[in-house]
Amino acid sequence: MSILVRPSSLTELFSYEYDAPELIAGGTDWMIARRSNLTQDTLCADISCVNELKGIEIINGELRIGASETMTALHKSPLVRRYASALSDAAYVMGSEQIRARATVGGNVANGSPAADTPAALCALNAYAVIVSKNGARRAPVSELASSGKAPLAPGEVIKEFLIEIDQKSISAFMKIGSRRQVSISRVNMAACAVCSRGKFTQAKVFVGTLGAAARFSEEASEALCRGAHTELADALASFAARQIPGRPTLAYKQSALRALAMDIYAELLKRAEEAENNG
Ligand SMILES: Cc1cc2nc3c(=O)[nH]c(=O)nc-3n(C[C@H](O)[C@H](O)[C@H](O)COP(=O)(O)OP(=O)(O)OC[C@H]3O[C@@H](n4cnc5c(N)ncnc54)[C@H](O)[C@@H]3O)c2cc1C
Repeated sequence: MSILVRPSSLTELFSYEYDAPELIAGGTDWMIARRSNLTQDTLCADISCVNELKGIEIINGELRIGASETMTALHKSPLVRRYASALSDAAYVMGSEQIRARATVGGNVANGSPAADTPAALCALNAYAVIVSKNGARRAPVSELASSGKAPLAPGEVIKEFLIEIDQKSISAFMKIGSRRQVSISRVNMAACAVCSRGKFTQAKVFVGTLGAAARFSEEASEALCRGAHTELADALASFAARQIPGRPTLAYKQSALRALAMDIYAELLKRAEEAENNG
């Protein structure tokens, strides 16, 4: 028989005599994947009440986001909006209002879907995940976790939080295109982060989702953004897609979607940079 527990701390979670309990955060992916195929003697741990997985705050110059914070909490947070706009954007456009109220950022990354929205944003923001287990803790760039695709964690590992270094000069944005305006899984998504001064981008990082197992860094798109022409950014993204998914039937669609996203994200980054400069 399956057992459901609801620990309130990591110490309690790691005290159960199971090496790797099934973790349930918001349950929006887990319910679909696991509700009908649980084997006997599964320990299911609802981690939504684990204290250490909560909170959005600034500590030692880093924005700390607890893994069980929901998309609604992320989007509503003034700290996330100010220091990690791309993540705020991604949280706002994911799923429906009901899904956003339950879906957590930890679950979105741990689930390892190629179409997930927050990994591209977290990668562009150079975010780190703090991962804990019975054996200790490790810190891994989200870009590394995301690149391992479907199984970003070892059994028994729990994402505790995400850390993003505060950079007052950086601006970022996330955009996606799905099959409809709302409650739509991304056909293409992308996130960009850069420093912008007087309309010129430097230190750009562009990550594109849905072109393979995970969000991927595009060096040519990042360089094109720094060269400062949105048409160059569009071309760079189209050729990046051609190299990532050569011959795939969806390539032409994705290229044209990326071209459109390039125009929009470029304009949004410029707008945000101008607002940031005006606000000092
Ligand atoms: C109708 C619908 C629409 C959706 N739309 C979108 C969308 O637009 N964009 C998008 O990206 N996703 C979408 N999703 C997918 C889903 O909502 C997200 O991936 C969500 O963020 C998962 O979070 P969760 O808390 O519900 O995870 P859960 O379902 O609880 O868990 C998912 C997986 O992650 C593991 N896990 C959860 N938390 C942790 C942790 N802290 N450490 C280690 N492992 C953990 C679980 O064990 C499980 O394997 C949608 C889902 C539905 C049902």
